[in-house]
Amino acid sequence: MAQLLISGGAGFIGSHTCLVLLEAGHHLMVIDNYHNSSPEALRRVANLAGPDAANRLNIVEGDIRNSDDLDRAFSNNKQDIEAVVHFAGLKAVGESVQQPLLYWDVNVVGSCCLLQAMQRHRCRTIVFSSSATLYGYPTQVPIPESAAVQPINPYGHSKAAVEQMLMDLSASEPGWRIARLRYFNPVGAHCSGKIGEDPRGIPNNLFPFVTQVAIGRRQELQVFGNDWPTPDGSGVRDYIHVMDLAEGHQAALDVLLQEDPQLLTLNLGSGTGHSVLDVVKAFEAVSGRSVPYTVQNRRPGDAACTVADPSQAAARLNWSTHRSLLEMCQDAWTWQQNNPKGYSTLD
Ligand code: NAD
Ligand code: UDP
Repeated sequence: MAQLLISGGAGFIGSHTCLVLLEAGHHLMVIDNYHNSSPEALRRVANLAGPDAANRLNIVEGDIRNSDDLDRAFSNNKQDIEAVVHFAGLKAVGESVQQPLLYWDVNVVGSCCLLQAMQRHRCRTIVFSSSATLYGYPTQVPIPESAAVQPINPYGHSKAAVEQMLMDLSASEPGWRIARLRYFNPVGAHCSGKIGEDPRGIPNNLFPFVTQVAIGRRQELQVFGNDWPTPDGSGVRDYIHVMDLAEGHQAALDVLLQEDPQLLTLNLGSGTGHSVLDVVKAFEAVSGRSVPYTVQNRRPGDAACTVADPSQAAARLNWSTHRSLLEMCQDAWTWQQNNPKGYSTLD
């Protein structure tokens, strides 16, 4: 079993991936500054992963832009770090438009600092959280990895820059094993309802907004447009259960650690699109609650339809999604009901 460094491991996708990797027997060192997460997430991950897991989960509270914090995370382990799974970063599109330099700093400078630390510590295997946002307004759906990278906001530019940095690095120095994983729309929660997505403030994304309407924290959903060129007029996305996504990281790590050095670029999605109204209906069915909504104008920067062509991931990783939209809604609902205020215990 490998010793792994997980940046941003306390976050939504990171915490679910930590659970999968602990269950597979790996030793984890997490570095997180809790900018958008809570230490409670990792406490729950350790509990879920079983009695000996806490001994295999170590945490450094620190910032990926700080070389001392990174050196502590690389050094405080019995074994050398064999691979890094790099989740740490900022992900809110609107905020990235307001504060582009913050996004270049955390996402791009932070990734550069992490890669420099990897060089110092002779670790050359990394799985990077990229995003379907790279494809901007897609000209082809389902979207293959060969589609043009043409981001339309600073968040997307920051992901494209890190993808380029990784490509330049792999070309410059033999031995790098790199996976650039382009996630579509991660949603849902672990089926226990103990870990899940815990957005701060008013959620920007559809799923957490819908769960908060169903539980009564928000009055109604605003559906951004019903005049898109889609079957019911609302926007279509490729939602992927966060546990399927976590298992995709495990599969990518297995391939990188077992095969020759390489640069993998893979879409992680289901290949199936669901509209906003499909999500509302599925959520109402699993929760038994109504999700009132009003139709508003289209949201600036939205695409009508983004759906992955996931065939490369299936071929290279022997991985595909198997959890349905109903399971995504059910697990998100269980998490929301058990944790109406997320990880916070404060009123
Ligand atoms: P998240 O905000 O829940 O997790 C990110 C984690 O990184 C948080 O725990 C945060 O505290 C930590 N972090 C932020 N800045 C840091 C810093 N400077 N140093 C150390 N830790 C820091 O987000 P998530 O949804 O789990 O996303 C994980 C990654 O996947 C991100 O890179 C995101 O851009 C990418 N991604 C997410 C989505 C999505 O819809 N959730 C889609 C595509 C790609
Ligand atoms: N959406 C919506 N109301 C909301 C949030 C999102 O109608 O409050 C729509 C949005 O226009 C898109 C879909 O839901 O068609 C998914 O949006 P999300 O922000 O979750 O993902 P992204 O657009 O980043 O893929």
